[in-house]
Amino acid sequence: MSKRDYYEILGVQKNASEADLKKSFRRLAMKYHPDRNPDNAEAEAKFKEAKEAYEILNDPQKRAAYDQFGHAGVDPSTGGFSRGGGAQGGFGDIFEDIFGDIFGGARGGRGSGGANRAYRGSDLQYNLELTLEEAVFGTTTDIRVPSMQTCDTCNGSGAKPGTHPQTCPTCHGNGQVRIQQGFFAIQQTCPHCHGTGKIISDPCPDCHGQGRKEKQKTLSVRIPAGVDNGDRVRLAGEGEAGVNGGPAGDLYVQVFVKAHALFQRDGDNLYCEVPIRFTTAALGGELEVPTLDGNKISLKIPAETQTGKQFRLRSKGVKSVRSATVGDLICKVEVETPVNLTKRQRELLEELDVSMHAGGKKHSPQEHGWLDKAKDFVKDLFEGEK
Ligand SMILES: [Zn+2]
Ligand SMILES: [Zn+2]
Repeated sequence: MSKRDYYEILGVQKNASEADLKKSFRRLAMKYHPDRNPDNAEAEAKFKEAKEAYEILNDPQKRAAYDQFGHAGVDPSTGGFSRGGGAQGGFGDIFEDIFGDIFGGARGGRGSGGANRAYRGSDLQYNLELTLEEAVFGTTTDIRVPSMQTCDTCNGSGAKPGTHPQTCPTCHGNGQVRIQQGFFAIQQTCPHCHGTGKIISDPCPDCHGQGRKEKQKTLSVRIPAGVDNGDRVRLAGEGEAGVNGGPAGDLYVQVFVKAHALFQRDGDNLYCEVPIRFTTAALGGELEVPTLDGNKISLKIPAETQTGKQFRLRSKGVKSVRSATVGDLICKVEVETPVNLTKRQRELLEELDVSMHAGGKKHSPQEHGWLDKAKDFVKDLFEGEK
């Protein structure tokens, strides 16, 4: 790619004076400065070209080298000359001098450490309620998130379309001012621009100069299988928009699992309570119990099962998002006392009762063991009172 002649770029004669160069460059800089042509790559290229030409020709030594050897004489790769950053980078002192009155100190406003530095947007948290099945088996769900987004109307500049924020004249865009107090110089937030480094005289009507607006956005979130209460799913870059072109924050979707009618989860295990008939408990039997995936599994109840007994069904629990193994389903049986008995049923039970009573402690060892203890306790109590 051949480079254009520096004199041609600035539109001046070979014998142009320093004042001619400055005047010409000022005119081009005013026209093509990035602050006046946001997102205009052509203008930015023109601005850089003019800046480079001026940097060379304004320096008598470099101008002489250029006059003698052309671009090769001042090519940065041949050494001796280092270009300043691009239009977005730091300017030489010359440019500070030139821009001082036009842009209020372009260097401070765009350079490092200024208040216009880019800030990362805040992280957001969204509380997502899931059913136990959704948490255990995973799901994809749409969520609506209120979040600060870059304003479309002003593309985040905060200035009314067609206008541009001006660098704050008080702090020259630094956002900070130095105040001399006795021996000390103190840095303070600029009272004029409140630290933003910019003055927006014509604020964008949509975002009122904020450059960001609160908007609802709909996100499709994939929840991996096995998440539990309190787990968080991170959606990188889906948080609040950054400030001054900074990166967006992250969105954390925090999982809350709703109570289930049948199952409780503890780690990888699921628990459920299963009421059984007292005859089943006594005689034994087989029941069907549901599993979380909507199927059923048969549970053998051995004869003479006591209430509260827990039965473990292997690998019918949860595969946690963090573990490789599947937990168990633990069924706790609760023996139910029969109600609404018919006359005949009562008769049968009365008969049973008499028969069991005759058998003594053999049929109800727990009851008899307890009765013996209670008798000892009551006797001691009476002796103590004497
Ligand atoms: Zn706006
Ligand atoms: Zn200021």
